[in-house]
Parts: sequence; C-alpha cells; structure tokens
Amino acid sequence: MSDTDTPPRGGTDFLRQIVAEHTEAGRYGGRVVTRFPPEPNGYLHIGHAKAICLSFGIAAEFGGRCHLRFDDTNPETEEIEYVEAIQNDIRWLGFDWGEHLYFASDYFERMYECARVLIRKGLAYVDSQHEEEIRRGRGTVTTPGEPGPYRDRSVEENLDLFARMRAGEFPDGAHVLRAKIDMASPNMIMRDPVLYRIRHASHYRQGDDWCIYPLYDYAHCLEDAFEDVTHSFCTLEFENNREIYDWLLDNVGFEEPRTHQYEFNRLNVEYTVVSKRKLLPLVKSGYLSGWDDPRMSTIAGLRRRGVPPQAIRLFCDMVGVAKAESWADPGKLEFAIRDVLNRSAPRVMAVLDPLRVTLTDVEEGARELIDAPYYPRDVALEGSRPVPFSRELYIERADFSEDPPRGFRRLRPGGAVRLRYACVIRCDEVVKDESGRVVELRCSRVPASEADEGAKSMGTIHWVSAPDALDAEVRLYDRLFRVPDPEDVPEGGDLRDNLNPDSVVIVRGCKLEPSVADDPPDTRYQFERTGYFWRDPEDGRGEHLVFNRIVTLKDTWSKRATAFAAGTATARAEATPPHRTPTQPPQPKGPRLGEEREARRRADPDLAARMERYVREMDLTPEDADVLTGSREAADFFEKALAEHDDPVGVASWMVNDLRGVLDGRSVGELPFDGTGLGILARMVADGEVSRRAAKDVLAVMAREGGTPADIVRRLGLEKVADRDALTPVVEEVLASWPDKVSEYRSGKENLIGLFVGEVMKATKGAADPKVVKTLLTERLGRDT
Ligand code: ATP
Ligand code: MG
Repeated sequence: MSDTDTPPRGGTDFLRQIVAEHTEAGRYGGRVVTRFPPEPNGYLHIGHAKAICLSFGIAAEFGGRCHLRFDDTNPETEEIEYVEAIQNDIRWLGFDWGEHLYFASDYFERMYECARVLIRKGLAYVDSQHEEEIRRGRGTVTTPGEPGPYRDRSVEENLDLFARMRAGEFPDGAHVLRAKIDMASPNMIMRDPVLYRIRHASHYRQGDDWCIYPLYDYAHCLEDAFEDVTHSFCTLEFENNREIYDWLLDNVGFEEPRTHQYEFNRLNVEYTVVSKRKLLPLVKSGYLSGWDDPRMSTIAGLRRRGVPPQAIRLFCDMVGVAKAESWADPGKLEFAIRDVLNRSAPRVMAVLDPLRVTLTDVEEGARELIDAPYYPRDVALEGSRPVPFSRELYIERADFSEDPPRGFRRLRPGGAVRLRYACVIRCDEVVKDESGRVVELRCSRVPASEADEGAKSMGTIHWVSAPDALDAEVRLYDRLFRVPDPEDVPEGGDLRDNLNPDSVVIVRGCKLEPSVADDPPDTRYQFERTGYFWRDPEDGRGEHLVFNRIVTLKDTWSKRATAFAAGTATARAEATPPHRTPTQPPQPKGPRLGEEREARRRADPDLAARMERYVREMDLTPEDADVLTGSREAADFFEKALAEHDDPVGVASWMVNDLRGVLDGRSVGELPFDGTGLGILARMVADGEVSRRAAKDVLAVMAREGGTPADIVRRLGLEKVADRDALTPVVEEVLASWPDKVSEYRSGKENLIGLFVGEVMKATKGAADPKVVKTLLTERLGRDT
C-alpha cells in the first residue's frame, strides 16, 4: 500500500504527461480534442472500454472534448444496428460526446478533394496493376520494392482516371489510387500505400453515391484533421502507421499545430477473447446466446451479467496505459466488480441448494419478522428489511455434514450453529429417504446462555423461511475459456476446444427471502456467503425469477491456479520487449494496481511469503493480502497493528478500506502514526469503547495531525455513552416515535428490539453503548406491560 495505489487520474501515465506538456506550452492554445473511432462492424468489448475511458477520460480531465466518430469507410461490413449498439454502450459506460457525433463517411467528398491535391502535387497516382502484382512489387522486409509500370503517369492522366474511377466507369479491382512515396522505404507501409480502391457496394449511410472507398491509413488521419483533433490515441499495432499519418497530413497541407497520433498498449485479458471476428462463430453456432451472453467480454454481455459500469471504469484505471503489450488477469476485473458492489449491494439471504430444517420447538404457523440490516458490516449505509422466521426453514445443503472434516464450523448431528440474524439451533435428528439421502434436519433452538459456550468456534449460516421463500433459477457464470490464452488452439482445432465446460451452471429451485420481490428489478445484491447477483434483464424480470451471478465473493481462480502470487500476467508482459524508439517518451512510472505489487513480491521473497501466510493462516482474501504485501512498509504496518489487536481480518479491513481513504497521496510510511496506533483504535472499537463510525473520524484526525486514538476520542467527545441517565431521554424519544412497533413488540415480536437499538444508535450518531441501550430498552418496554 503506497501512494502509487491510487488509480491514475490526470498527469500520471505517459499520454497524460504528453497532453499536460502540450497544454502548459500552449501548443494548441490549451485545446484538447480526442476521439473514439469505432468501426460499426460489431459490438464493443472490454478492450474498447479501455480506449473509451482513455480518450473520454483525458478530454474530461483537461477540460477538452472527445468526439464519437464512426469510422465507417468500409461498405461491406458496417450496419446501422452496430451504430446504435455502440452509442448505447458508451453512454452506459458513463461517457458523453455531446453534439460531437461524426461519421467518417460524411467526409467522403472532402477526402476526394484531398486526394486530388496529392495528385496535383505529383504525390499520388492511379495504378492499374492487379492486386497480386501490387503486392509482389512491394518487396519484402529484407528486399526493397520495385516501381510499377504506372508509377510515372502524368498528373493530367491521373486526375482523369481518378475522376472516372469515382464516376463508376471501371469494375472492382481495375485501378487503385496510390501515394507516391518510396518503394524502398524500410517501413513497408511507406512503399506507395493504396489510398483508394473501387468497390461497387452499397454503403449503409451513403447508399450508392460512391464506388471508390478510402483505406484506413488515408482516411483516418484526415478524419482527425477535419475535426481539429489534437491528440489521436490508438493501439500499438498502428505504430508503423504513424509515418504515413504524418506524411499525408503534411503533404495535403495541414499545418502545425495539427493532430498527432500516439500509441498505447491494447488490453488483452487472460481467459478472454477480445475480437469480434473470433467471437462471431461462437455466437453463430449457438454456443452463446448472443452478443450479450453474460459470459461475453462485450460491454453488452458484461452489462447483462450485472457488472456495474463503475467497475469497468475502475478496471480500466487499474490496468492503466503503457507502451508494452501485457496481459491482464481477469481477477483484476473481478476485483474491481467486487470493490464497487461491496460498497453498494444490499445483503440478502438466498439458499441455492436447499435442505429443509424443522424447528421442533417453534409452534406450527408461528411467524416472526426479524429486522435485518442490508449492510451489516457498514455502519455508514442504512436500511433494513423484515425477514420472516418460522418453524420450517431452508439452509444450504453444504452447511450440514454428517461426517464433517476438521475445522467444520457449521451444522453436524448434535452440533449447534448460529442462524444469521436469528438464533442458535442444534441438530437433534437427521431424516433420510430410502436411498439414504438427507432430506430434513429436525432441530431446536438453543438458549442463549448455552449457546454462548463454544460460541467462538461456532459458525453462522444463512437461511430462508420455507413458507415465505420465493423460488428462483440461478445462473452461475464463470469464465468462458479454461486456458489463459484461448487463441492458442491445438493443431487442427479451434476456439471451441478451449471453452470452459462449466462456464454456466443453471440451478433451479433456489429459495430467496421474500423481500426481494419488492425491490427494483435492477437491484444488485450480495447473497450472503454466496456471491453477487442480479435479475437477468432478459429472462428474469417477469413472474419467473432468474438471477445471474455477477461475481463470486472471493477469487476462486487464484487458488485453483495459484496464479495470484506468482503473477503470471506480468511474467508474460515481461517476456515481450517493450516497444520503444528514441523519439518516444520514456516508460511511464504509471501506477498500476496489483501488477506493481506483484512485481515487488517477485523481487522480495519475504513479501511473497507474507502474502502466502496472510491468505493461508490469517484467512485474508487474496485481494486484501495483495494490498497489504505490496511493500514492506505496508506489511510491517499491518503486523504492528496486529500486535495490538489480534484480528487479522478486522485489521486488514481497517487498512484496505479505511486507511487507504485517508492517505491522501502519501504512502503508509509517511503517515504521522504507525501500525500501533491503528491497532489500538481497532481494539477500542472491538471493546466497545468507541463506535466504528466515530473511529473513522478519529482515524481521519490521526492521519491529519497524528496523536493517539484515546486522546482524540476524548478530545472529540466520542466515548461511547454508557451513562444511563444520558441515554434514557433518547430511548424515550425513539419509543415515542415508533408506537406501532412498540405494540408489536409487546405482543410478542421481540426481535424488534434490533430496530429500536438501531434507532437509538442512529440518534446518538453511534456514540451510545449498544449493551446499555438494549438493557434500557428492555426495561422500558417491559415496564408498561
Ligand atoms: P476487433 O478486433 O474486436 O474487431 P477493432 O480494433 O477492429 O476490434 P475498432 O472499431 O477499429 O475495433 O476499434 C476502435 C478503437 O478501439 C480503436 O482506436 C482501437 O485502437 C481501440 N481498441 C480496439 N481493441 C482494443 C483493445 N483490445 N484495447 C484497447 N483499445 C482497443
Ligand atoms: Mg479495427
């Protein structure tokens, strides 16, 4: 954890540095104009998202604008359907081009005029060789090309032939227009590139107006120049095309300061294919349900799966831009999704593989409503819903074992487990069918006093009241491919050989708590202990409930492949030598979350060992362990804190979630306090001396000015109020404002106590001691009966 963990925003990567330098030097009068230029020949994918975040992001950061321009110069593959889908996807990602929507095909007339300028200057000619002859005449990387027989046609003849090409006098392939540059150039692209070809095809926008179409290299730079673009960003494979970009603009007569092209590394993601062309056969063969199949790497697929747009933007920030090709671990995208959902998704209970539990000591037909918080671990977010509790429940089949392995903390015959938000139950009897399969558990509630013994080793499981449960189908999505590089196919095979056979598992008969029926259909939930889910927008929002798993709670793949600590993603990136020429800016020191930390761990075996230990022995998530072992500074800080308060998961959460928020550009070592201070604060919260909410304020003060937690708590008056006299008026007030709930409580709904405690806590901004509040409330509620 250091200052470099903040996602790059403004002025950090090499492209932002270039734009910043130009802006400061006043090169474009302070203007910044970028563009995103998709060809409307398919759906956008996660790779495009990186380009979109980059061009729209830079424009926004520098107070400029970003154009959306459809690069629709090829009549054969483009369709209006894609034009609409692309606009929809970009808007959904959160970007806006305002009035700057352009179509390259609208420039055909101007492009034609520019070609005539080149012809008149003797810099372009009509070549009448066959395609194959032109190719041969170009030579190879090791041998120079040869001038063809039409290279020295006169300007007049060229102008005449070019006009007749446009007029439709010739069939496809009869002639092309070529730039006249250098047939021996070391850059093959400069060996008289073809600028125009004849295609008698209808264009989806221009109809039959044109039968000559410009090629990419010719069209793209002109489009940028016509729109007064200042910075034109594209992927590294266009590095060699930069020379023709500049040659054309200079020779057509665009003067400096004109647009320039800058290349960055494209986004490749392991276990993922980011090419429309390669995904198309899978869609066509029916293996995928469409371009928006939730396993697809398309924006439409990610959206349907339930991925929030913020997570895609965060992921693009995390991978950053650089000059070296690299492969991103899809765990990074999953990390970003969890990061966003963890903060926003309400927690509810859902049982995917139900096993019936009968509570023999609960009366038949009895029903209690438990007020359960939506965000049990985050006091900053409010909200709760009633969860029905009754004699018949469902629990997860996997939460019971007749013959449990060591360390099993869930239900076993004769054992006890805590039901989330409810009570502790003991399994008295196991009911099986003729085949020996467990079909029901007969259990009874255990009194709180008995439950407290051994409560430490007892697990907490989720459950759903059987008569109230909603039935749902759940689709468990996983990676589409089972190998890191799906395009590496066996001899004679194809992509299908690399598919993950378990990329979707459909589970029917799942049981959900009933509150879900009342929520907006696009709510994204955390099903407690199970994962993040939302209702499938196509199939799941009617009578029949269908939920997609957006992402699991933990990174299950890193354990399978142990790739997390070993850092396969960057290992591969390093195997490729970085593209760099002397004229280009130096490699950015660009902060890239995760990758940099992985690199540090590779260089430092001590850090790698700590990572391993944090996950295995301390039960931290790999994401948290990753952050904590990104530097020795961070890991030492963490361990110092543990020395004060031995709760690794809790302390990790303080560091990852709270401490990062107060770093303010500093590294952990630059804070005016060390791990001891954080450990003490975490302990004070655990001991009930200060509320978690108040402790966040304390932390902010510590980060600003240093000091010890106890002093700051005292100074700010944040000690938990345990004074009965001080709390009694607040308790009275809360009860007075909930008369209905008070009478419900008195008629037996004792679980409402949670609601009252919560209200008092809210009223005291978390300062009250909940134990004292609860005592006061029970006394007060009992007195009037
Ligand atoms: P595909 O191979 O899927 O057809 P493409 O590159 O042909 O993709 P375009 O519509 O030409 O698709 O791309 C529009 C812009 O998006 C271009 O500027 C291109 O450089 C950028 N882009 C495409 N793929 C990626 C990627 N994987 N990473 C970053 N940028 C990308
Ligand atoms: Mg392309």
